Amino acid sequence: MRTDERTLAYGGGWLDRAAALRADPGWIAARLSDPESVLLPLWRDRCLVSVDRAPVRRSAAEAAGLCAAADETVFLGLDAGRAVFAVDLSGLDDAEARELAGAAEAVDVRVLVGGLGAAEAAVQAYAKGLLHWHRGQRFCGGCGAATVAGDGGHTRSCTGPGCGRLLFPRIEPAVIVLVEAPGEPERCLLARHRGAAEDSWSTLAGFVEVGESLEDAVRRELAEEAGVTVVDVAYQGSQAWPFPAGLMVGFRATAASTEVRVDGEELVEARWFSRAELRERVAAGRPLGRIDSIDHHLLWSWLDGRS
Ligand SMILES: [Zn+2]
Repeated sequence: MRTDERTLAYGGGWLDRAAALRADPGWIAARLSDPESVLLPLWRDRCLVSVDRAPVRRSAAEAAGLCAAADETVFLGLDAGRAVFAVDLSGLDDAEARELAGAAEAVDVRVLVGGLGAAEAAVQAYAKGLLHWHRGQRFCGGCGAATVAGDGGHTRSCTGPGCGRLLFPRIEPAVIVLVEAPGEPERCLLARHRGAAEDSWSTLAGFVEVGESLEDAVRRELAEEAGVTVVDVAYQGSQAWPFPAGLMVGFRATAASTEVRVDGEELVEARWFSRAELRERVAAGRPLGRIDSIDHHLLWSWLDGRS
């Protein structure tokens, strides 16, 4: 399957996030008691699913007990006017959470993604990322007092006297880069990462550091990990990656030379591949990046001669 920017897994803006409405606690309470509203229970970063591995959906009417047992209930958005909430059952043990939700098992969304519709995968990933953030922000980093959720679960604020710090969900951007060799023949740089399978090659990626632009991060990562200086850095697209808090920002860049010198830490090997070599790998059934990742998208775009 090839994807374009619009259909990269885990994104797509499927819900109306209704930012103006969710700020009103009265409106949120009314949606929570509206029998048309939908609750999506999650447990410790996992989707709760039925025996056929469909994510469990409960109506607000039949699931009052879910919210009572939840660590947090957050408003995700409106789906054709119907409110959708994520309910975090992480405080229960596995069996209790499954029983309360009416679920058969708890499974990571990345395991399910091939069998889910694009909108469902996006909403489950969004729910996972937002609930994960809440679990890690229960106390203020400034004064240590407890924090409480607001804005339907899209902020937390500190309850400490004289503090009142407002916390927003944290996003951690990372750059992912397809590097082309200078001149002919046309080749791209792929690397084997430490801990990856013997024949597993992927594009290079790394987190953006404080005080860097995205382009700065591309240049630094390539220099640090592969000893490659890049002369052009061009934005290709981005992907929501809430596992737990990522945003993958895809680039294409051109190397100043074909010399490669891996750091031996994160990368154990890096080398140049022609399109013919990559097509041979695909024909032999060897994967070209994970199907749900922008890595796959960048590689296929290059193979197709697109930017
Ligand atoms: Zn505080």
